[in-house]
Amino acid sequence: MFPSFSLRYARLPERMRAASQPIPVEDARLVAFNRELADELGFELAAFEADEAAEIFAGNRLPEGAEPVAMAYAGHQFGNFVPQLGDGRALLLGEVVDRHGRIRDIQLKGSGRTPFSRGGDGRSPLGPVLREYLVSEAMHALGIPTTRALAAVTTGERVFRRIPEPGAVLTRVASSHLRVGTFQYFAARGDTEAVRLLADEAIDRHYPHLADRTDDGERYLALLDAVAERQAELVARWMGVGFIHGVMNTDNTAISGETIDYGPCAFMDTFDPRTVFSSIDERGRYAYVNQSVIIQWNLARFAETLVPLIDSDGERAVERATPIIRDFSERFDARWREVMCVKLGLVTEEEGDGELAQALLDAMRDGRADFHLTFRHLADAVDASAEAPRLRENFASQEELEAWLPRWRERLAREGVSTDDIVARLNAANPAVIPRNHRVAEAIAAAEEDDFGPFEALLAVITDPYTTPDGDVDYMRPPRDEEKVLRTFCGT
Ligand code: AMP
Ligand code: MG
Ligand code: MG
Repeated sequence: MFPSFSLRYARLPERMRAASQPIPVEDARLVAFNRELADELGFELAAFEADEAAEIFAGNRLPEGAEPVAMAYAGHQFGNFVPQLGDGRALLLGEVVDRHGRIRDIQLKGSGRTPFSRGGDGRSPLGPVLREYLVSEAMHALGIPTTRALAAVTTGERVFRRIPEPGAVLTRVASSHLRVGTFQYFAARGDTEAVRLLADEAIDRHYPHLADRTDDGERYLALLDAVAERQAELVARWMGVGFIHGVMNTDNTAISGETIDYGPCAFMDTFDPRTVFSSIDERGRYAYVNQSVIIQWNLARFAETLVPLIDSDGERAVERATPIIRDFSERFDARWREVMCVKLGLVTEEEGDGELAQALLDAMRDGRADFHLTFRHLADAVDASAEAPRLRENFASQEELEAWLPRWRERLAREGVSTDDIVARLNAANPAVIPRNHRVAEAIAAAEEDDFGPFEALLAVITDPYTTPDGDVDYMRPPRDEEKVLRTFCGT
């Protein structure tokens, strides 16, 4: 029933990983299983047995061909370099080739201590496992590159955080787990050979079109450029759905351009560009509005690791890499404008579209409007004669919105398509449902009491995000004051 596992990462030098075994858990119970993803990965679902799967996804038994390893990496955490992090509570079981011929990493998260665990227990509470499951699957449904969630298993054991919590293991699927921090680990040790092998692996797995560049320097420079492009696109897409990653450390920046590490992440409700959820982000380093400059900073750290590969003359290498980092903000702004234009129903691009989008965001901030409802209900106001109460009610003060709407309609007129077409575009671009933080918290709280109903119901609506939920628009609604959950935790 399981696809065959191999360990491609084993082609790379042993110093990149540590062999490690999952530590068995007491009572493995499969509480979530992603059949659509399993099918894509080549599982034979007809022969699927939940009991066997629970044992495997808990790490109690290894699937055939699996040789689990913990990967080595370093990283800047909140700007401070930590030379050794590594998989402290995760294990790469191996890779499988999916039905489309793509290599996918299968990783257990919360499977026990590894040589990189330092003081940690290598475990994960149920809450963060379900948060990652919900939010990563929502991201995928929104069309945003992300690691996926294949399964969640409860362990029947307690993990001790601030209080004892039920333990769980998540099975994460990624196109690879190469991170900026993986490169930093070896660069910090002066191990240029390892950095080169990692760069070649990254090109092979994620940017194969670069492989035929015969000039080494050009090829690695092109890798930097390609990663910058994917990250610009990724972060712009996050901004477009009001997503706050929360812990954009360099070890949580994937070379593939997928969203990785859903620790303290959340979608914002009321629009405020300075929004922060993470309890440990005291200074707001990873606030919503900072995400583009943070990714630029992380890309600069990536560039530093590639310097010896780009040119044997260090100064010349820096000279060649600098424009990619320096000009990142323009690249990001272009991606951001594209994302925002789509959200406004625009397909053509005109000078001034960026300002038009920004003016709406300013109105939302000043009017304390809900991010998602504003965009979702723009469709109500395409027609100037419509009352659009769902849009207007959303703003505590409406003057700015009223000034903005005619500007927008004038711009829409130049698209030269019917109102119906614009409405269809808007509804396809602006989700009705995202996993609102209070809903995620509510689903977790119920699951902790062994009721997975709210988790399953939420999962069903957020994996079909552009459809207004049948009968239950409650999933679209922002939290009432007493429902608000303003703090999230890393789950470590
Ligand atoms: P994160 O903040 O999730 O990116 O984790 C940062 C580092 O801490 C990584 O090296 C993790 O593997 C490690 N870590 C987080 N939680 C635990 C834990 N419970 N036990 C061991 N290591 C952990
Ligand atoms: Mg991490
Ligand atoms: Mg984490």
